[in-house]
Amino acid sequence: MQTTHHKPFHLEYAPSIESTDIVKIEAKNKLFIDGKFVEPTSKKYFSTVNPATGSTLAQIADANAKDVDLAVKSARKAYSKVWSKMSGKDRGKYLFRIARLIQEHARELAVLETLDNGKPIKESRDIDIPLVAAHFFYYAGWADKLDYAIPGKDVKPLGVVGQVIPWNFPLLMAAWKIAPALACGNTVVIKPAETTSLSILLLAQIFQEAGLPDGVVNIVTGAGETGAAIVNHNDINKIAFTGSTEVGRIIQKAVAKTDKKLTLELGGKSAHIVYEDAAIDQAVEGAINGIFFNQGHVCCAGSRLLLEESIASEFVDKLKTRMETLRVGNPLDKNTDIGAINSAAEHSKIQKLIQTGISEGGEYFEPTSSQLPEKGFFQKPCFFNNVSSAFTLSRIEVFGPVLAISTFRSVSEAIAKANDTQYGLAAGIWSEKGSKIHKTAAGLKAGVIWANTYNKFDPSSPFGGYNESGFGREGGRHGLFPYLSI
Ligand code: NAP
Ligand code: MG
Repeated sequence: MQTTHHKPFHLEYAPSIESTDIVKIEAKNKLFIDGKFVEPTSKKYFSTVNPATGSTLAQIADANAKDVDLAVKSARKAYSKVWSKMSGKDRGKYLFRIARLIQEHARELAVLETLDNGKPIKESRDIDIPLVAAHFFYYAGWADKLDYAIPGKDVKPLGVVGQVIPWNFPLLMAAWKIAPALACGNTVVIKPAETTSLSILLLAQIFQEAGLPDGVVNIVTGAGETGAAIVNHNDINKIAFTGSTEVGRIIQKAVAKTDKKLTLELGGKSAHIVYEDAAIDQAVEGAINGIFFNQGHVCCAGSRLLLEESIASEFVDKLKTRMETLRVGNPLDKNTDIGAINSAAEHSKIQKLIQTGISEGGEYFEPTSSQLPEKGFFQKPCFFNNVSSAFTLSRIEVFGPVLAISTFRSVSEAIAKANDTQYGLAAGIWSEKGSKIHKTAAGLKAGVIWANTYNKFDPSSPFGGYNESGFGREGGRHGLFPYLSI
């Protein structure tokens, strides 16, 4: 066994910066209502910044309750006059057209997403945007087959759907929400997160290019109050929300008094279990991908690493060696592994939580090799080793590149530790033994369980959580159900 660590093989790469020439960002970005870009009634705008530099990219319209009402009226009209009357086959044609246009605009969308969100270009280019197109293709295929979605049931659309999404995968979350809603015959009013509105506004231009009928999708940009105006609007039939458990609770309370349908995709503290018989090097890559992918801004991030005791020290040594080679920096550089944290607020929240971990006596590690850029919001990947279940960072979601590592000695202890959380979004299992994987998976309380891989997504596969991770499924045939009256 090789144990010469702390001497990482560190290749220096010449920067390879993706050009931003392909995107043209408007100085002022309006609301998208009834098929047109319109001024917010208040005439108020707020700034969106590039988190990699801290500089302002553009101004975004701030929608108030009046704008939300106009958007809902437009969605209602499009629903009753056009979209609910159209055949599934014709709705599918629009969705296929949108999917193809997303592919045609892929580079533009990827660069814009990286500029506004801070994620590495190799992720927005190779993961986010291809998955966005795949999602529209997948649900385009369902639009004329809804009669077969639930055998023996006559299904109908719900009407107008209100959707609120977060900043970590701005366009992918928009696709997860919009594609199944439209395939099922609903119309949409959607709000992106305050810090990441630009890519969905480019998607609005794609809707125009595709000839999507006016009012079928309406986009209202703004902060939490805009989201609340959607949630509380009385002519909306369903609310779909992805975001924090805290805001999910507020929304659930507001919707409880109404007959609106609701789905919530919330936070997580997912366990990543590595058995001694696992392929260790692959599992190290899996653990890295599980927590450092997208700066750890992933609701299903493998933020708790559970190692079988017999391999723990070897694993942690290999993890350290590999972490020394991760490149943190300019998200537009094609070599970058870890980009910018999306906002100053999120950055300081992560740093505070790391301080909490240190003050609780956690064994802290961060790589010494990489230097962080001077400007922008950057965070080194890091972990706390040998933590207990009571350790704060074993329990609460950091939503950043921070891993908590502990050990176990048996399958039953691994399952018990993995389930010791208020969440239940995802889990990962690494073992060469299929029987062990099945036994472990059967005991885990998590919506998604990956075996010998992590953070793999496919539009045909349902995604969603248990307990405080929310309810309802997105993706796959199951992802149709929240958008249908059954
Ligand atoms: P967040 O604060 O809950 O925000 C999510 C969205 O809700 C944003 O568009 C936000 O607007 C809006 N919002 C805020 N307050 C609202 C209110 N009172 N009523 C209606 N809408 C409101 O979450 P975040 O900080 O953006 O995202 C991080 C969290 O999302 C993490 O906890 C993460 O686990 C979770 N997440 C879960 C999933 C999943 O699939 N389960 C996916 C991604 C993220 P503003 O942007 O203006 O605040
Ligand atoms: Mg931004």
